[in-house]
Amino acid sequence: MTPDDLAFDRDHIWHPYTSMSQPLPCYPVVAAAGTSLQLADSRQLVDGMSSWWAAIHGYNHPRLNQALQAQMAEMSHVMFGGITHPAAVALCRRLVAMTPSQLECVFLADSGSVAVEVSMKMALQYWQAKGEKRQRFLTLRNGYHGDTFAAMSVCDPQNSMHSLYQGYLPEHLFAPAPPRFDQPWQEQDADALEQLIVEHHQQLAAVILEPIVQGAGGMRFYHPRYLHRVRELCDRYQLLLIADEIATGFGRTGRLFACEHAAISPDILCVGKALTGGTMTLSATLTTRTVADTISNGAAGCFMHGPTFMGNPLACAVAAESLAILQENHWQTQVMDIERQLHTALMPLSSQPEVADVRVLGAIGVVETHRPVNMAAMQAFFVEQGVWIRPFGRLIYLMPPYVISPQALARLTDAVSAAVAHPALFNSQ
Ligand SMILES: *Cc1c(COP(=O)(O)O)cnc(C)c1O
Repeated sequence: MTPDDLAFDRDHIWHPYTSMSQPLPCYPVVAAAGTSLQLADSRQLVDGMSSWWAAIHGYNHPRLNQALQAQMAEMSHVMFGGITHPAAVALCRRLVAMTPSQLECVFLADSGSVAVEVSMKMALQYWQAKGEKRQRFLTLRNGYHGDTFAAMSVCDPQNSMHSLYQGYLPEHLFAPAPPRFDQPWQEQDADALEQLIVEHHQQLAAVILEPIVQGAGGMRFYHPRYLHRVRELCDRYQLLLIADEIATGFGRTGRLFACEHAAISPDILCVGKALTGGTMTLSATLTTRTVADTISNGAAGCFMHGPTFMGNPLACAVAAESLAILQENHWQTQVMDIERQLHTALMPLSSQPEVADVRVLGAIGVVETHRPVNMAAMQAFFVEQGVWIRPFGRLIYLMPPYVISPQALARLTDAVSAAVAHPALFNSQ
């Protein structure tokens, strides 16, 4: 990439959550393979982010590439209205087989946020079909469910964009953030949530949450007993439970799905991110036969959604292959090995003055700091150290591809240790 390309990028191209007038620097990446990203100047960076939870098998995977090429030779796309194709059937067979047994019906969509929109529309149509007016959702503080409007309305009201869109977003109910994974469980930890359900259940369409790991809303891990209580309460008050496993799905937390930590099954499940192994955008919303039949027997006679690129054959083919690799690859061992190494390397950082908390679960390691990081300075520091780690706010976190070697993982944890020892890489407040 030429300096002119970078200037064009800065002047014309929006990046995620970035100012157009004062953009932070972007690093030009020209290739990626295994667990390494190659910069335009040929430097190699060890990837600590899996491109936001997605590239679980590493980049440029020969089998994923092969699946794409084979599908491309047949057809890259065909509409899904009135047409089906082998790639969609192969993928959905796998999804139905690997998710909890009650989840039998699959809706394919283009991104995580759309999967969340679909899940919320399913809950609304379900109650409408039953002749009940239930249009509110109950969720947890510190949650994140995506950037489209319905998804935004169930994101944490403080650290997301509620104030920006006040009056435009529907107002849902927020239970306090649940207690930590590593603290002893006390039954009263779910009292506030129960109270909200007792008071509002007749208006509630569903409870929507990220099971066990709250991702972009704060990288918090919470107690499986809490999730278990949510399921019990949903059963008692006949509420639907939507599990957003877009970040946690496919092994990241040490279980294939984070719901398994609490041995529960949701009524609606959203997956995305790692679904295609980080190759293409694709998401899926799965639900039970009961929910699907109820919706289908309602006034509309169908579920009212149908993206243009629904069931895109390239995305389905590469997703089916990614799930095959996951199941052949001993992901449990990979994730457990990463967890052990993250634990050993990061836990000692808790005694550092900049560090407020360190937590590790599965292939996720989080160092929470007292002061917000100086993004530009810390990003540059990490690139200097030969690693790709993208912190935000007070969070420096790692979620490497499952195939990372112990040596490469040590490069990542060493870089985090070095960063927290540099007061200059943090903002004053
Ligand atoms: C990333 C994420 C989403 C949104 O997915 P996109 O593909 O970015 O739209 C929704 N829910 C959770 C839990 C996520 O981590």
